[in-house]
Amino acid sequence: MDKGRSIWLVCTLLLAVVALAGCYEPEPRPRVIGEDRPVPLPTTQLIPQYRLLGRSIQGRAITAQILGDGLDTTLIVATIHGNEPAGTPLVKRLADHLATNPDLLEGRRIVIIPVANPDGMAAGTRENVRAVDLNRNFEASNRVNNGDYGHQSLSEPETRALQAAIEEFRPNRILSLHQPLNCIDYDGPGKALAAAVASSSRLPVKKLGAKPGSLGAYTGEELGIPTITMELPAAASNLSEDALWERYGQAMIVGITYSLPASK
Ligand SMILES: [Zn+2]
Repeated sequence: MDKGRSIWLVCTLLLAVVALAGCYEPEPRPRVIGEDRPVPLPTTQLIPQYRLLGRSIQGRAITAQILGDGLDTTLIVATIHGNEPAGTPLVKRLADHLATNPDLLEGRRIVIIPVANPDGMAAGTRENVRAVDLNRNFEASNRVNNGDYGHQSLSEPETRALQAAIEEFRPNRILSLHQPLNCIDYDGPGKALAAAVASSSRLPVKKLGAKPGSLGAYTGEELGIPTITMELPAAASNLSEDALWERYGQAMIVGITYSLPASK
């Protein structure tokens, strides 16, 4: 190939490259709506989930409201005794507070059963409609079989609904709301948690002892889950939701956020 022809070939190639480069237009990058401002990651934790756990003897729904999707799981049970209803509006307000303060849900999952004994609540009785004390109907070594506590453990559909929640959600801690003893009781490794909650409320810690077949006897003593019982005073039934939250809201928040000791 002579020198002139080589130069012509090189020039032709260069022109072709330049021409091709000029024709090339990169694909426009798809525009993401809102890309110029931070977009929160999609998360389920702000959207409360509801779960039907079971039904009472009279067919009332026993539901759980689930907030957050973290690992630290708190189970909160209100109104297992139907004539101790103050816990129900208190936990309802807690759910509202968590929904509007999602930072409290970081790393946490809060499972709230607002009415564990709906038939008893409707009738204003401690027991369910078969006159069984649901808080004596769990499987625990101190259980007593009789008509008042059920002829066998988990004989009542309401108790089985709670048992299903414990098995499904495997809580790290449990808060159970009662009246009227005006104290914080605990079962199993719940002493430190009880002290923290007591210091945030007007309720002192009192160790009442695990009652036969109670939720605390089962979850605290048998399963080793820190379980505290918030015994609100009788007068709490007459308090408005706002007044309940004002008095006990901080204790509820401490109950779900307190860092449990590593060794139980
Ligand atoms: Zn009670």
